Amino acid sequence: MTEAEIQGVKTLLETPKNIVIIPHKNPDGDAIGSTLALWHYLKKGEHNAVIVAPNDYPNFLKWMPGEAEIVKFDYEKDRAKTLLKDANVIFTLDFNDLSRIGDMQTTVSACEATFVMIDHHQQPSDYAKYMYSDTSMSSTCEMVYNFISFLGDEEIINAEMATCMYTGIMTDTGSFRFKATTSTTHRIIANLMDKGAENASIHNSIYDTNSLSRLQLLGCALKNLVVLEAYNTVYITISKEELIRYDFKKGDTEGFVNYGLSLKGIKFAAIFIENLQEPYVKMSLRSKGDFSVNEFARAHFNGGGHTNAAGGRSEASMEDTVKKFTEILTSYKSVLN
Ligand code: 5GP
Ligand code: MN
Repeated sequence: MTEAEIQGVKTLLETPKNIVIIPHKNPDGDAIGSTLALWHYLKKGEHNAVIVAPNDYPNFLKWMPGEAEIVKFDYEKDRAKTLLKDANVIFTLDFNDLSRIGDMQTTVSACEATFVMIDHHQQPSDYAKYMYSDTSMSSTCEMVYNFISFLGDEEIINAEMATCMYTGIMTDTGSFRFKATTSTTHRIIANLMDKGAENASIHNSIYDTNSLSRLQLLGCALKNLVVLEAYNTVYITISKEELIRYDFKKGDTEGFVNYGLSLKGIKFAAIFIENLQEPYVKMSLRSKGDFSVNEFARAHFNGGGHTNAAGGRSEASMEDTVKKFTEILTSYKSVLN
């Protein structure tokens, strides 16, 4: 953020405001962690702050401090709409285009509030008056830490905020191993531990609370994995029937795509998952090195994200989606070799 923008935000937050904080649809650890951390921070001021999430999120996030107070738009539409209408300030976190909030988009687009974006995805739209957008950042949680520092309030960070930010940095960096994890990220993590984030307990709450059916669904996904050697690419499919057979719960397939990337020599991994409610296939894409899955998802599957982690969707059947995917790959042969 520029000095002028920091001053602008400082002035904006000088007097008590009605504030709504919004994560993207199907929020992940970084989206929930960053919105909760900012919420705890703003509540230390005189603000009337609330988080409105477009929809529900996985159970493995439902221990985070303050989580129970998150308003879910698709469960409490009237209340959420009133909160949005009355908002003076709207923070949008971990996304950069209003199409990422699903059915909430119409209501949010009509709001007269001052928008503040904090986000690390590529190609931001320009709906926000104040934009803290930085694609080099490991996570939106790392940016919220910086944001609080810009406002001169690092001292205010308590154990609850630290826990939320630690969680989002951990989940978005694949436990501190992806390329965007810098020495600064580690310094921030160290500060968060000093402020009371308990690393082992956070890790346990996120990663070691599997159900047996989720592990069996992972087994099924790994059996379905297909290697396309000519393109150093793998893909996994999961059908509706398989989701039902293994008692699918929201978030159960999170991280599955990364197993594909762990195969020696693989540069591109995809997972295609049939949606249980609507007739489309959701996909997650991951890459190593320069091959941009963000551009791939934007160009072919109505999606986006980061260079090495993106998502998209296909309205075609699973069979046709896989066919389209393998056909498209032929034009990327040289990049993937
Ligand atoms: P995931 O595959 O874990 O759902 O998402 C990977 C990254 O891509 C995340 O940063 C997520 O926000 C982004 N992403 C996932 N799906 C979509 C999509 O449909 N559109 C866009 N623009 N980004 C997506
Ligand atoms: Mn993120």
